[in-house]
Amino acid sequence: MPFNYPELKHPQNCNKCAACMNACSLHAITKIDPFEVDKSKCAKRKECFTCIMACRTGALVIVSGDP
Ligand code: SF4
Ligand code: SF4
Repeated sequence: MPFNYPELKHPQNCNKCAACMNACSLHAITKIDPFEVDKSKCAKRKECFTCIMACRTGALVIVSGDP
């Protein structure tokens, strides 16, 4: 079942503020430098955009994938 997860598509925009990490209540973003997502955790929220909304620099994009 496909789900949404964040990808650091524009790393040059990332200022390592950790807002994305702090916004995810599932703690699915495990590292920001380098950016790392635990997809098995993220997959528990299939239509979630919380981390992308929290990123003020537009560094993240949502992509669709399988766990
Ligand atoms: S999409 Fe939702 S569950 Fe996945 S990492 Fe972002 S905030 Fe967490
Ligand atoms: S919220 Fe955006 S700018 Fe901040 S660490 Fe996450 S990806 Fe980088």
